[in-house]
Amino acid sequence: VQTIGVLTSGGDAPGMNAAIRAVVRQALAKGKKVKGIKKGYAGLLAEEIIDMDATSVSDTISRGGTILQTARCLEFKEAEVQAKGAEICRKHGIDGIVVIGGDGSFQGAQKLARLGINTIGVPGTIDLDIACTDYTIGFDTAVNTAMEAIDKVRDTSTSHERCSVIEVMGRGAGYIALWCGIANGSEEILLPEKYDHDEEAIIKRIIEGRKKGKEHYIIINAEGIGHSQELAEKIEKATGVETRATILGHMQRGGSPTCKDRVYASTMGAYAVDLLCEGKSNRVVAYKNGEFVDYDIEEALAMQKTIPEYLYSISKDLV
Ligand code: ATP
Repeated sequence: VQTIGVLTSGGDAPGMNAAIRAVVRQALAKGKKVKGIKKGYAGLLAEEIIDMDATSVSDTISRGGTILQTARCLEFKEAEVQAKGAEICRKHGIDGIVVIGGDGSFQGAQKLARLGINTIGVPGTIDLDIACTDYTIGFDTAVNTAMEAIDKVRDTSTSHERCSVIEVMGRGAGYIALWCGIANGSEEILLPEKYDHDEEAIIKRIIEGRKKGKEHYIIINAEGIGHSQELAEKIEKATGVETRATILGHMQRGGSPTCKDRVYASTMGAYAVDLLCEGKSNRVVAYKNGEFVDYDIEEALAMQKTIPEYLYSISKDLV
């Protein structure tokens, strides 16, 4: 490859800037040109393409969000639109692309690879819902942000002897909820992958806890289950314990990335460029069993993600 394009697609995640920076600097170190494609596949189609040099990414490693911005672009699922995307790449001299995003974004990347543009995916999502990798850019920062916020809610909840239903992000996945549940020592963790809808059992446990002198009751609820407000109302009605719902929301997506997110995102960005320089295409960078590796996109998308059973079982034992 001679000119490497880089884009961020799907939901933003803290650490994406570190990955973009690594792509730009590693490409330049290898004597390649770099172009930034703004707003994901939408920006590619609109030809929002900028030249990038070493200074384009100065002072960005500590910033949340993505300097290239991101977007969802549903029309990129259509074959003619994908062909137009590949044509625009060629027009701008882009013969390699690094796509930072989730599974959906990798599907777009796979299509571009089939159309002759060398393409590498880098996993960027706070949700950790990508099966081929144990790490995704942004999860560490998001889970730390949520953990700190939950600590704060817990302080006031204890003072008032309340029950709290705290909803964390994760879309259909329960990783943020599971990690916060353990890290915050919550009484209940509700994960979409495991939810049995037995709210009566939760109510029973709250009443028992109160009898034993528990001063608070923290329920971490995953976005994929939702209805936190209704659940709080139901609990209050059934138990007489004042119950509040807190939906943490978009604060979990922002903020300065943690050290881990900066270092891993930098490594993955550089690794993606190395793959392109070796003439590879249609690969996804991953972190598996303590190592940075890469998989064929098809193979990566076919993998199934599951909640780690041991983590889940101790989350129940440690309450
Ligand atoms: P996140 O999980 O953070 O939201 P994601 O990459 O999974 O990230 P999606 O909204 O699923 O987010 O996908 C992002 C973009 O990738 C879509 O808006 C679309 O442009 C492109 N995309 C998704 N699926 C396909 C597909 N089947 N073929 C081509 N492009 C796709």
